[in-house]
Formats: sequence, structure tokens, C-alpha cells
Amino acid sequence: MKGSPTPRTGGALIWEPCEDGSGILMLVRLTFLTIQVASAGAVILPLLIHAWLNRGWNRLPLPVPDACSDADLPRLCVVIPTWNEANVIETKLTNLLDQRYPSTKVRHVLIDSASTDGTVERARAWAVENDTELEIIQMPARLGKSAAVNRAMDELHPEDEVFVITDAEATIEPGALRRIGRWMKDETVGAVCGTLVEEENGGAYRGWFRWFREGESKADSTPIFEGSIAAYRASALRPIDDRANADDSQLALLVREGGLRALSDGAIRFREQPITIHREKRERAVRRGQGLSRHFWRNRIRWFRGGRWGTILGLNGIQHTITPWLVLLGILAGVAHATTVVLLGWTGGEPMLLDRLMLLVDAIVLASLGIGVAGWRVPLCATILAFLENNVYLVRGMLILRLGTSLHKWTPSMSNRRI
Ligand code: GDP
Ligand code: MN
Repeated sequence: MKGSPTPRTGGALIWEPCEDGSGILMLVRLTFLTIQVASAGAVILPLLIHAWLNRGWNRLPLPVPDACSDADLPRLCVVIPTWNEANVIETKLTNLLDQRYPSTKVRHVLIDSASTDGTVERARAWAVENDTELEIIQMPARLGKSAAVNRAMDELHPEDEVFVITDAEATIEPGALRRIGRWMKDETVGAVCGTLVEEENGGAYRGWFRWFREGESKADSTPIFEGSIAAYRASALRPIDDRANADDSQLALLVREGGLRALSDGAIRFREQPITIHREKRERAVRRGQGLSRHFWRNRIRWFRGGRWGTILGLNGIQHTITPWLVLLGILAGVAHATTVVLLGWTGGEPMLLDRLMLLVDAIVLASLGIGVAGWRVPLCATILAFLENNVYLVRGMLILRLGTSLHKWTPSMSNRRI
């Protein structure tokens, strides 16, 4: 659509429509291109810095907890928060009993928030059958997991040294509680959480997640905790915001701000049945994402406040609050850029190298999307897709919160709780 050379005989002809139009179109295209490049850069830069630092951190040794005799193990208060967990509660209690933590050193507390499916009755019957002591606290209403965690903290006895929280549908592997006990003999450690054992389709994204948590734990502490099995030094606890979720990460941050380390340990392992329904997967990702975004944003004053911990908090903070919007902006600008090129061609001149580069990026993203939808397994594409998906979920979570809905009370996914 390039305008033919126009004889410029008079002033009016300089504004020949064709040339004028292509100039504006080029400007539009370059604007989209600039936005796309800028957002891609702003997304990738913190991620690269994080990955580069983390590579170094991962070379540091993770302190190993000392061996410990039964007599020296600390006293645990193991809390299982439940809301309508009748399907899995017995399996869970048996799983805890199988841990064989010295029985004089552990209390089991079930904190139930007005379940309507007989969870409490089943738990009670299980305790009788297994001749095991199980304390049951019944909250009169369901207020969400964070509220239940706060309530459970009130139940700590002065002699309880460690507060352990473990989710009803998570199965912890042998030795997990003992390992927690050993960690807590180290006075510098205030919190420790487990690691999900990968089912085969855990994917590359989960691998990255683990790699970052591990590096952060070696460097200092990780701010992203796995609540499926997490333990906190009782003396370091303070109540959390019960109107927000991410109870696990809230507690980890409190502990770290109190001067103790918060670690993710690959040797404390738990399993969960995978969620098989896409809608449930999405809902959980949006809810968890909202919890983390809100948590990091509230603590933005602490980002980059000196030391490795400040850096870790800041980098993760950016990735959970700002990056998702930039990803969205980048996608929109990319679509707009590609559209102008496809519809209008290279109006206003030859494409720049950057134009071509960004079109290549568009093509890769599109291909990943296609490959993902088709269900093929191409490693890099799967990672790109999971990254984009995760960021879209984070945006959704933040949007939903802006629109006034906090997801701190939720209906559990069922596809991972079948008997
Ligand atoms: P997810 O792992 O993030 O999907 O969260 P889950 O739905 O698995 O819930 C984690 C744990 O918190 C489970 O043991 C639930 O039963 C428990 N839970 C969820 N909501 C409440 C609540 O309102 N009160 C109590 N006491 N527990 C809850
Ligand atoms: Mn769960």
C-alpha cells in the first residue's frame, strides 16, 4: 500500500491521502511494537535476575538438620484444618499415625469449621477405633482456612514447641514429622515446609518452582510456602489476616521477619491426588494466586530492603503483582502488532529487525498455545504455556479482588478427593 511518488507541486498535495495514512499506520504499528518489547523486557528482566541469582544460591549448601534421639525431639501440635473432608479424613488420620512420632511428644488436633458431611463424626469414630487421642475443635461457622489456623494457634499449650499444619487431602511420606522435629532443634530455623512429590505430569513449571524454592531456602528463606505440610516454631507465631488466604506464606513471612529462617525442604515429602477437572484446577490457581498477590503487595514496603531476604521478597513480589499485568499488556500489544502487519502489511516502509523479532515471539507463543491445546508434549512450549496461564490466573485473582471478592472461603475441589 505504499503511496506512489507524488509530484509535490502544491502545498495541498503534500497531504496526499495514501502517504498520510501509511505514516500514521506505521506509527501505530511502532507503538504496539514498543509496548510489546517494553513489557516483554520488564517481564523477563526480573525473572532472569532471579534465575541468575538463584543459580548461585543453589550452589550453597542447605543446612542439614542434626540427628536427634526420640527423647530430644520437640513437642509438636499437629493441626488438621477441615471443612467437609469426610471422604479423606480417615486416610489422613491413619497417615499421621503411621508417622510414628513418639506419642508423648505429639498432639493431634482437628479443627473443623462447621462441616456438614459428617467429617467430625468420622474422625471421632476413627479415634475410638484406633485408640488414639484426637482433640477436636469445632468452629461454629466456616470462616476459611486462615481463620481456622488462627483459632488453632489459641489451642497451643505452653509446652508445645512446634505448630504443624497439614491439609486433609495431602498424604505425607514416612519420616516427615521426624524431619520437622529435627529441623526445629536448630535455633535459627523458625519454619519449614514440605515438597510435593511430582506425579509424572507435574511438568517443567513445577520443576522451576521447586528449583527457586530450594535456592531461596539455601540463600536465606523462601517466602512461598506449601501449606499441605508446614511447621512453625510456636514462639515465633502471631495471628495472620483471616480475611486473606495464603495462610502458609503469611506465617512464613511473619517467622522470617521475626529473624528466623523459613525453609522449604525436599526431604519432607507429601503426595496429593492430581486435580483432573480443568475448572477446579483453574479455580484453585486463581484462589492461590489471589492469596499470594495480595500477600506480596501488602508487604511491598519490605521488598528489596537489603540483604538476600529483601531481594528474594522483592523479586517474588514483582512476579506476583506487577509481572502478570505486564504479561497481559504484552500479549495484547503483540496481538495488535501482529494484526496490523497481517491486515495492512508493512505500511510505511520495510520492517525493522525488532518487528521481525517480535513476530517470531508471537509465532512461538501461538505455536505453544496450539501445541498445548492439541495436548502434545513439547517441553519448552509447555513451560511457556504454563507461565502465561499462571500469569493470566494471577491477573484474574487480582481483578476479582478489586471487584470486591476475596476468595478466602472456598469449596474444595472434589476430583482430588475421591475415595
Ligand atoms: P488447596 O490445597 O489450596 O486447594 O486447598 P484445600 O481446598 O485442599 O484446603 C486445604 C485445607 O484447608 C483442607 O484440609 C481443607 O479442609 C481446609 N479448609 C478449607 N477451608 C476451611 C475452613 O473454612 N475451615 C477449616 N477449618 N478448614 C478449611
Ligand atoms: Mn489441598
